Amino acid sequence: MKRTTGTDRSITNKWRPATRAVRSGTTRSEHGETSEALFLTSGYTYDTAATVAARFAGEATGMQYSRFQNPTVAMLEERIASMDGAEACKVQASGMAAMTSALLCMLSAGDHVVAARAAFGSCRWILSNVLNRFGITHTVVDGRDNAAWEAAIQPNTKVFFFETPANPTLDIVDMAFVCGLARAHGITSIVDNAFATASLQRPLEFGADVVAYSATKLMDGQGRVLAGAICGSADWINNTLSPFQRNTGPVLSPFNAWVVLKGLETLDLRAHKQSENALQVGRFVESRVGHVLHPGLPSFSQHELAMRQMDACGPIFSFVVNGGREAAFAVLDALELVDISNNIGDTKSLACHPASTTHHNMGAEGRAEMGVEEGMIRINIGLEDPLDVIEDLEQALGRAGV
Ligand SMILES: *Cc1c(COP(=O)(O)O)cnc(C)c1O
Repeated sequence: MKRTTGTDRSITNKWRPATRAVRSGTTRSEHGETSEALFLTSGYTYDTAATVAARFAGEATGMQYSRFQNPTVAMLEERIASMDGAEACKVQASGMAAMTSALLCMLSAGDHVVAARAAFGSCRWILSNVLNRFGITHTVVDGRDNAAWEAAIQPNTKVFFFETPANPTLDIVDMAFVCGLARAHGITSIVDNAFATASLQRPLEFGADVVAYSATKLMDGQGRVLAGAICGSADWINNTLSPFQRNTGPVLSPFNAWVVLKGLETLDLRAHKQSENALQVGRFVESRVGHVLHPGLPSFSQHELAMRQMDACGPIFSFVVNGGREAAFAVLDALELVDISNNIGDTKSLACHPASTTHHNMGAEGRAEMGVEEGMIRINIGLEDPLDVIEDLEQALGRAGV
């Protein structure tokens, strides 16, 4: 039988990104199956009592319990780590489980976090409603403003936390600068890379310490399961995150891990094709309504920075129609092909109104600060023929009278 090479870093490190997405992490059972096996088991058995004792003592490797490890989950973790160029990865039950674990595993009362203003709503909620209760304070900055990051540092600052591109304004953070600044001050930078994934952007190459994901989005890519992941150094993952995770339990089910593992095999294709489609549809919308936010468009204020950090700019863009919420609702209601959905990263094109959905909780003032306008529509471009999506948007904009 051909040697299984998926976990041998001396081999996988030589592979190009598309190959890693298909092959890294694969370990085969004695049957030599082609497709990764689904180990739907919570526990394990042992030949002798001494075997299990050695594993619990940390003197021998091997499975103990699926809250700690699982063979299918381990394959996914190795594949994601390899794609990100990380020493190690742990996966979680959802993207929010990943964000919460990444923060809580390393913060204590009295610590301080600096976070970018443009962020997924629940990430902001954790800072204000969970960490605050335990005496962990934070400062919110405009992530695009390098000087603001520097000015927000306090003697007790432990973490920089941001996403790039950010939801839904697609703001870009200058990772080389901001992560470098963090390093210089002994601060850990955590980058939420859900919008891009390792296929389009690898934050560790720009000096990030920790990369966190909602794998629910582009990584699964077909709208099936919730999942999250965290990449970092072996030391941080093994000694800081893992003990927190195995005792608190926000682990990913082996079934969901298997679905994401298979999703990753087409990630490179999907992420690049959907990015191309988004550019094509984005150019049409720009010609029609003017105000489009997509890092891949030359009109985007941070276009050059985005192109320095990203291989392609992803499937998501936002645009603003005249006439506020009423006009945005009219456009969404008139769509015939594109679905109204707050999900992203799917192969199906999906559109939503951030002000009344994903960013509803932050209130009018918070939205105004973030640039989430009432007439804003966010759209995820899928794998349909982009000409059909353009035709649908054209008829919807026409019927909505914008
Ligand atoms: C969706 C999303 C999350 C949360 O992920 P879930 O899998 O829904 O828990 C976090 N950050 C970003 C940028 C997201 O898009």
